[in-house]
Amino acid sequence: MTEHLIDLHTHSTASDGTLAPGDLPPAAAAAGLAVIALTDHDTTAGWAAAAAALPPGLTLVPGAELSCKWYAADPPISLHLLAYLFDPAEAGLRDALRAVRESRLTRAERIVDLLRADGVAITWDQVLAYAAGGTVGRPHIARALVAAGLAPDVSGAFASEWLGPRYRVHKADLDVFDAIRLVRQAGGVTVFAHPKAARRGRIVPDSLIAELAAAGLTGLEADHADHSPAERSAVRGLAAELGLLVTGSSDFHGTNKTVRLGDNATTTTETYERLVASATGTRPITAPGDRSSSAP
Ligand SMILES: [Zn+2]
Ligand SMILES: [Zn+2]
Repeated sequence: MTEHLIDLHTHSTASDGTLAPGDLPPAAAAAGLAVIALTDHDTTAGWAAAAAALPPGLTLVPGAELSCKWYAADPPISLHLLAYLFDPAEAGLRDALRAVRESRLTRAERIVDLLRADGVAITWDQVLAYAAGGTVGRPHIARALVAAGLAPDVSGAFASEWLGPRYRVHKADLDVFDAIRLVRQAGGVTVFAHPKAARRGRIVPDSLIAELAAAGLTGLEADHADHSPAERSAVRGLAAELGLLVTGSSDFHGTNKTVRLGDNATTTTETYERLVASATGTRPITAPGDRSSSAP
C-alpha cells in the first residue's frame, strides 16, 4: 500500500480559518497532500466550493468539527468531535448543527456587548465582517481586538484578558453522546479531536472516552499541535486498548494559527481507508475525470 499525505482536520472561512473553501484545495495540493478533509466548526457551508476547486490527484473528505459537551461532568466539559462523510441533508444532524450555529452567534454578540460595556472599541458589524458569512467564532472577535490595537495578533488576543474568564459566555453545544448518535444516523463516522489537549482547557477522563467508544466513536486524533509527545503516546495507548483508529492532523486555520497544511498529518492510508469504509452518508470527492482514485 502506497503511503499518501492525508490531512483530516482543516478550517476555511466557512468557520474560523482564513482561506476561502475554494482556496484550500489548491493550497493542499501545493503542500503535497493527497487527501484533505474540510472540517469547519458546526457547518458544511464550505463543502461545495471546496469540491468545485479540487485539482487532479487530490481527494476531499467532507466533514465538520462539532462543538460538543460532556454534560454529565460538573461543570460540563467542552470537547470537539470530527465528523466525516455524513449526509448533510439528514434532518437530525442538520437541525442540531443549525442550533449550535445560532447559539454561537448569540454568544459572540453577548461577548462583544460585554467588551463594549467595558469601553472596548469594537463593533458587532466588524466581527460579522471578519466572519464573512461563515460560522462566527472567538477568532473573529480576536481579529477585532487586534484591529483596535488591544492585542499584537490573534494568538495574543486569545492570551489577553479580553478573551479571558471575564468575557467567557457559554454556547449550547451538542451533548457528545447525541452527536455520535446523530452522525451515525447520518451515515458518518466520528473522531475525537485533540482529546488530551490539556492546554486548551479541562479534558475528559479515559473512562468517558471508553464510553464514547462503546457509543460508536471510531477514532482518536493523536498527533495535533496542541498535544505534547506524552499526550500523543497516551492517546495511542488508549486507542489500542479501546480498538479505535488513530489519526494525526494539522487543524489548519490559515493565518489565524501558526500550523501549516500537512503538519502532524500522520494518518495512514490504511486508517483512511477504514474510515471511508465505515461511512455510508457520502463519499470522498475527486475532480471530475480524475482517475487517480477516490481512495488513494
Ligand atoms: Zn478543535
Ligand atoms: Zn479544528
